[in-house]
Amino acid sequence: MNFKIVGGGPAGLYFAYLMKRSHPEYRIRVVEQNPRDATYGFGVVLSGRALSFLAEGDQAAIERLSAKMQTWTEQHIVHRGELMRIDGSGYSAIERLTMLQELQYLCRQTGVELQFNQRVDSIKDNADCDVLVAADGANSIVRDSYPQAFDTRLIDLQNYFAWYGVETPYPAHTLTFVAKDGGTYCAHHYRYTLTRSTFVAEVDADTWLNSGMSVMSDEERKVLIESVFEGILGGKKLISNRSFWRRWRLIKNGRWHHLNIVLIGDAQRTAHPSIGSGTRLAMEDAIALWRAFAAEGTDIAAAFRRYEEDRRPVRDKLNQAGERSIAWYENVAEKMQLAPYEFAYDYMLRTGVMTPQRLAKESPGFIKRYTEATGVAQV
Ligand SMILES: Cc1cc2nc3c(=O)[nH]c(=O)nc-3n(C[C@H](O)[C@H](O)[C@H](O)COP(=O)(O)OP(=O)(O)OC[C@H]3O[C@@H](n4cnc5c(N)ncnc54)[C@H](O)[C@@H]3O)c2cc1C
Repeated sequence: MNFKIVGGGPAGLYFAYLMKRSHPEYRIRVVEQNPRDATYGFGVVLSGRALSFLAEGDQAAIERLSAKMQTWTEQHIVHRGELMRIDGSGYSAIERLTMLQELQYLCRQTGVELQFNQRVDSIKDNADCDVLVAADGANSIVRDSYPQAFDTRLIDLQNYFAWYGVETPYPAHTLTFVAKDGGTYCAHHYRYTLTRSTFVAEVDADTWLNSGMSVMSDEERKVLIESVFEGILGGKKLISNRSFWRRWRLIKNGRWHHLNIVLIGDAQRTAHPSIGSGTRLAMEDAIALWRAFAAEGTDIAAAFRRYEEDRRPVRDKLNQAGERSIAWYENVAEKMQLAPYEFAYDYMLRTGVMTPQRLAKESPGFIKRYTEATGVAQV
């Protein structure tokens, strides 16, 4: 069989590797518009749980990635200058470029053809394969060639964000909330190398308008964010890498396959970064599609159906969690009225996936401090 994969992000590369490893006789190509060493952004974070899901594809591959990761066991939430430690929150982070290069290495080792600097501009480019995997991310040109067949819906969220880096290794996965001049600012920061952290800044729609950010240049917005978060930046400048401010766009598709085309990763569905799992979901899609072909062999239509049937319930559950998290962030100004420990507790339960009982079990230290601070006992 002949597979063409458009997009050399985590979804496309992991699928290509898994498929070629199982079927050395298949032709597997990845067509990527960028050079092999280019990427946007800085580091991505994955929960400990996510890593064990991903190892279901290939344990050795995930161990390879894990060796390059920064890990920590706590999450920190900062509100009104008070730092609250949430124990039992295991996370890892890796530089996006390192992750892609590791996956590229595994692809080359197994014989996947990697074609860089090649942009797919038209769907006509794609009659030359049995299966076309659209792994070309949120702005997928493959998906957008058939918006009705895929029943694609785009939803622009209210908040604005930009993804920066900073030369400071923060000790944990940290969320810092700052109220300033009537606005609410949030930073999501975590180290992904020994010296550098990702720093995602986010503001709600009112702050965007009232602070003047809506009419600023991206450079002016960066300066403003540096001054708002002066306390945690300690004089360091934020580093840009195509760090433009935008609203998050949710993409949903009613159907996941059409003709010989199948959608995976962000091309299929974007996940809000506040549940931190876009990379995980993309790679899990790759695992699910690979498994579907393992079960159905060369019956492409059956493999596509199996992929969608197996994967849709998991995706839907996480998407619901993501949507509740989005609602929390869009109402963050109201949440800022809560006292620090109430705020952190509310944050931890925002998606409905984490229950009070589970939080008490997984984060007893936090719950102890929460009870001391609020006088409210939790079970
Ligand atoms: C601010 C922000 C923070 C994030 N934080 C996290 C996080 O902490 N943890 C996490 O797991 N995820 C995070 N994500 C999400 C994560 O980056 C994506 O969900 C993930 O990269 C999706 O993988 P993918 O392979 O589907 O798509 P992508 O990683 O977007 O890869 C798509 C690839 O396709 C290529 N391509 C696109 N069009 C074409 C074309 N026409 N021809 C050829 N090639 C093409 C692109 O160059 C790209 O390499 C974040 C995203 C953002 C924007």
